[in-house]
Amino acid sequence: MVKKRTEHIIHADEVEIGPLQLQLMLGSSYKKAIELCVNSIFCNCGSKDKRLVNYKSYINDVNDVILKGWCSSCNTIAARYIETGEREGIEAIADRIRHTNQK
Ligand SMILES: [Zn+2]
Repeated sequence: MVKKRTEHIIHADEVEIGPLQLQLMLGSSYKKAIELCVNSIFCNCGSKDKRLVNYKSYINDVNDVILKGWCSSCNTIAARYIETGEREGIEAIADRIRHTNQK
């Protein structure tokens, strides 16, 4: 079996965002969206009640969000991709966040 990496790779187009910026990216239903995402991660361990914990949030160049953290069950890295790039008006929000965070 391939051994899992122990560190997340942060790609060149990814910019870390804060919790409030994550809310902006996900819109008014952010609570539901985050809850859904942290509870539905893929992990090799196959545990049924795993969650994504201690994650950091990133946006990429197509304005999607990636949560990078750890599997609560086996303590290895895990991530969850959230497609937000198609949402109306998201480009302006993402551009503003990128501008702010890249200074
Ligand atoms: Zn796991």
